[in-house]
Amino acid sequence: MTQIAAARNGTVTEEMARVAEREGVDPEFVRQQVANGQAVIPSNVGHDALDPMIIGREFATKVNANIGNSEETSDIEGELEKLHTAVHYGTDTVMDLSTGSNLDEIRSANVEHSPVPIGTVPIYEAVKRAGDASDITHELLLDVIAKQAKQGVDYMTIHAGVRMGHLPLTDGRKTGIVSRGGSILAQWMEENGMENPLYANFEDICEIFREYDVTFSLGDGLRPGCLADAGDDAQFAELDTLGELTRTAWDHDVQVMVEGPGHVPMDQVAEQVTRQQEVCDGAPFYVLGPLVTDVAPGYDHITSAIGATEAARAGAAMLCYVTPKEHLGLPEQSDVRDGLAAYRIAAHAADVANGREGARDWDDALSEARYAFDWREQFDLALDPERAREYHDQTLPGDNYKEARFCSMCGAEFCSMRIDQDAREDGEMDAIEADADDRTDPADSPAAEVNRPPVGTHDGADIPDPDGETPTDTEGRADD
Ligand code: SF4
Repeated sequence: MTQIAAARNGTVTEEMARVAEREGVDPEFVRQQVANGQAVIPSNVGHDALDPMIIGREFATKVNANIGNSEETSDIEGELEKLHTAVHYGTDTVMDLSTGSNLDEIRSANVEHSPVPIGTVPIYEAVKRAGDASDITHELLLDVIAKQAKQGVDYMTIHAGVRMGHLPLTDGRKTGIVSRGGSILAQWMEENGMENPLYANFEDICEIFREYDVTFSLGDGLRPGCLADAGDDAQFAELDTLGELTRTAWDHDVQVMVEGPGHVPMDQVAEQVTRQQEVCDGAPFYVLGPLVTDVAPGYDHITSAIGATEAARAGAAMLCYVTPKEHLGLPEQSDVRDGLAAYRIAAHAADVANGREGARDWDDALSEARYAFDWREQFDLALDPERAREYHDQTLPGDNYKEARFCSMCGAEFCSMRIDQDAREDGEMDAIEADADDRTDPADSPAAEVNRPPVGTHDGADIPDPDGETPTDTEGRADD
């Protein structure tokens, strides 16, 4: 039985209980959100290593990291290293977008080792097996989807919303169709003169998904690839179809989230989120960025994290990271780290601004450690402790500087926090120091599990690490 079917029957599953614990909410609230389609728990019945998580606008904003090989780089060890890096730096889900060799082996290894949900885009494998996009058959497509479901994939991007009638709407675009899945399906429809096979077989796909409890991630194959194309007729025609497909999937007791753009000017981001929520009856919105300007290749983790923060503020439930390599090349491990940092910041900033209960406890705890010159505590609480420690120690490496009342930014003489503290009356500082024992403790936060520093949260999982060793520290702090 799928999570949504159980929820509709009034059952709180083990997975619902676990995500309620992680989010610090009532399990009955989780059940209601899943039952009415406002949240999803991607959890294939065959994914044994999974620690369940939830995606929905009423829960902490989540982030996804894309990994995967290409024809140019293909090996299982390298992919597991990327999985380890993504989980280590706090991703909530991982999409395996491999298009090179060993697709089955890589996918199985990822599912076997991953404590976070694994997503895929099955049309990629269908193209590989067919040899050419136009040679994909309905049977092959369903065979690929069924096999990946059986392998334990938790959610799949299905570009069923790209329809024949939508294609002419892209003719005047500045950058055409930029989604890989969207362009493959457009080619198929143009060369075969038939409707999108994912749309034509959607109810069969629903039945496969129901058997394994695979969650739909309804792809936005016509997403805008530049600011000029944002919010055009093609994008919104597809969105209307995605709303229709959302309701069809729900009729089959299958969980659904909906993917969104792309490249969108900052002033249009919130209205795009509102429109998706209306058209898709509140199904969780899973957005890629969006990038709010087109002019910064090499820095698109930043241009997109700005849009992602705005999207999460407006109700997007999960943010698909973009790395500095976007538009330029396949991300390496350092790009995965930088992309995830940008997106953890975006997600957390939105959670704080949206008043998510317990979200700001983390900020308060770090600020208190900062004012107390408790450097070790600052590093431990940082979103990326290793980076914070590394940067501090570049100029002041000695242990004696871990209690110093300054750092190299302003120096001892001009440290404003030291000057401020020295200027205060003795009694005032005594009171501040006496309060030290009452400092904010994120572990006591109502949302402790999701709001604590994410780095290394799942390092106890059985994923080979980049040095070839399997971490065993179930406490999960990378820097312990
Ligand atoms: S020296 Fe400047 S940056 Fe460093 S701790 Fe003091 S106030 Fe903060």
